[in-house]
Amino acid sequence: SKETPEEPLVGAVVQGTNSTRFLVFNPKTAELVGSHQVELTQEYPKEGWVEEDPKEILQSVYECIAKTCEKLTEANIDTSKIKAIGVSNQRETTVVWDKFTGEPLYNAVVWLDLRTQSTVESLNKKIPGNSNFVKSKTGLPLSTYFSAVKLRWMLDNLRPIQKAVEEDRALFGTIDSWLIWCMTGGVNGGIHCTDVTNASRTMLFNIHSLEWDKELCKFFEIPMSILPNVRSSSEIYGQMTSGALEGVPISGCLGDQSAALVGQMCFQEGQAKNTYGTGCFLLCNTGQKCVFSEHGLLTTVAYKLGKNKPAFYALEGSVAIAGAVIRWLRDNFELITSSGEVEDLAREVGTAYGCYFVPAFSGLYAPYWEPSARGIICGLTQFTNKCHIAFAALEAVCFQTREIVDAMNRDCGIPLSHLRVDGRMTNNKILMQLQADILHIPVVKSVMPETTALGAAMAAGAAEGIDVWSIEPEDLSSMLMERYEPQIQATESEIRFSTWKRAVMKSMGWVT
Ligand code: ADP
Repeated sequence: SKETPEEPLVGAVVQGTNSTRFLVFNPKTAELVGSHQVELTQEYPKEGWVEEDPKEILQSVYECIAKTCEKLTEANIDTSKIKAIGVSNQRETTVVWDKFTGEPLYNAVVWLDLRTQSTVESLNKKIPGNSNFVKSKTGLPLSTYFSAVKLRWMLDNLRPIQKAVEEDRALFGTIDSWLIWCMTGGVNGGIHCTDVTNASRTMLFNIHSLEWDKELCKFFEIPMSILPNVRSSSEIYGQMTSGALEGVPISGCLGDQSAALVGQMCFQEGQAKNTYGTGCFLLCNTGQKCVFSEHGLLTTVAYKLGKNKPAFYALEGSVAIAGAVIRWLRDNFELITSSGEVEDLAREVGTAYGCYFVPAFSGLYAPYWEPSARGIICGLTQFTNKCHIAFAALEAVCFQTREIVDAMNRDCGIPLSHLRVDGRMTNNKILMQLQADILHIPVVKSVMPETTALGAAMAAGAAEGIDVWSIEPEDLSSMLMERYEPQIQATESEIRFSTWKRAVMKSMGWVT
């Protein structure tokens, strides 16, 4: 009998701030063969607080896997061909759970959460003589954004967590750790691990030695016994212990922005991508060396694709609020009923008519790192209507990206010639055109925008010996691209951008 070698498939969990997805790829061609998505609830128990339920997150992962497998079976695709699973996740979001009951001890404190402002202030006062102490080890500025600060707050304020730590029952993790621990068995032998990219966002990780840093743990007073083991981004962590994919190894793990960098094949120094999701994150590969920014960018671990492979680093520009402003227009303002509608409103007017919207809901991240900022809408007149506000919201995403592209250009010395983009917001054609106009360079989107999932799938497949690297970057770039060229004069971009900067100045210092 004639035997055709079985073509393996690889799955990827993409656990985002806004939604969870599971996607299955043919790793040879990067073709997407099936997927399922579930939107998540966010809780805002107090002004500035953002939480998600770790169990809802976990259930959404299981649901996405189950539904994707059902769809594959209906399409006559054998799910036993899925040979590896990768995990990519929202970063920094902090979970503490009980290793004996498997129960979370509190909601997940989401990266956007601002409750730790006073924690940051008191930590700032504690910084030893060398004010560069934290930044030089972690690449990160002391901010509400990173896990160590959230964990410090939880240990200070939540008695059940203090107690669990005292009784040696507590485990800490970012979302990757929580998911992998649960999916590999939980209380029955779950693996407590994370990868270098996620670890590099905790503010407890030394990005030079690639280990948890004793001095940082001492500074934040975090017991090292609750931290996960740090592994590379591509190796077998454990096997799925339940569901349709029971027994399949989990063999890739990357923070979502790192996964997108890998999925965009930015393996060369100087290659960069911008992902438009809840926030916006521009990462530029700086090779095997850490580059420290003079212009408000972060230094972070980009990926380490195998136990014995070197770590690569990236400079990162982080914008807290991008897609989240569209979700806000939908959920808080009910200006639209679905995110996609914002495009129709914006198209109706084709201009913000002098209206500027600075969505500094969580303060401002790069390049300002200004926790005192709050959102403002300014330049309103009798003429302004909801279409202008919608347009201004989209334009805000583009201006914020322009701020980080400018910072990146200054740090790198060589200006970006074009911007590679991905993320669900890039389906918005008005946004993409506006971005090209405001940056005044071409914006390039591949037709396979699921780069985060692809990156996680590639890492997982590589660890399982699946030949994912047969995808040549050239093959991918020959896949159809959507390209947006600037259509306005450079002087007009500059005028609009400088007005935006005036609006940003007005948003600052609101909270004292
Ligand atoms: P995350 O990875 O952070 O979970 P997603 O990739 O799911 O984010 O992107 C969802 C975000 O993009 C949401 O905040 C949503 O409001 C926004 N979004 C989705 N589609 C559009 C669209 N067509 N136009 C503008 N924004 C959109």
